[in-house]
Amino acid sequence: MPLISDSIIKQVRENNDIVDVIGSYLPLVQKGKNYFCVCPFHDDHTPSMSVSREKQIFRCFVCGATGNAITFVRDYEKVSFQEAVDILAKKAGLNVNIQLKREDNTPYKEEYEIFNVVTMLYKNNLNSQKGAKAREYLEKRNLTKEVLDYFDIGLSLSTGVCKNLSTKYEKEKLINLGLAREDLSDLFTNRIMFTIKIIMVTQ
Ligand SMILES: [Zn+2]
Repeated sequence: MPLISDSIIKQVRENNDIVDVIGSYLPLVQKGKNYFCVCPFHDDHTPSMSVSREKQIFRCFVCGATGNAITFVRDYEKVSFQEAVDILAKKAGLNVNIQLKREDNTPYKEEYEIFNVVTMLYKNNLNSQKGAKAREYLEKRNLTKEVLDYFDIGLSLSTGVCKNLSTKYEKEKLINLGLAREDLSDLFTNRIMFTIKIIMVTQ
């Protein structure tokens, strides 16, 4: 099964203006060529996020969150990349058939949830100030921002992720998922993280 084809992604992006997409979630104020809103990815009180219609990207000047219409929907709605493509395809009335992996009906719903939370955390790390060195390295390896976004590449730091997660999830789960050691310390610290995903798409 192929990944979502580039042509579907292109179609979805061409038919969803980023200003309209973000504007459907958050109030936007126009200043010159760009639009601004309160950033939903950090505790923001002044509009720190700019949205460019010309470039079809958003960028937060405080937390460094950046991306396009698809990755905004993914991160805002906390869904997978495929689900975000599906949401935007439907919004634009496009007739693409994206077969989503149904995570709702599995007995591993919580495991998926944990992986999604950790993936988001790692991605935010990579986009943060602490991720500068890793980003530089990835750039040298010719991994563009789009590729990093598409494959949910992130960065683990030594911030005690599993200890925090253990307030909400069972310790055994975190260990079985290969994220934590017996003492709840993180198995992965200061590493670039590649999320493994199974994506099935039909067109
Ligand atoms: Zn932000």
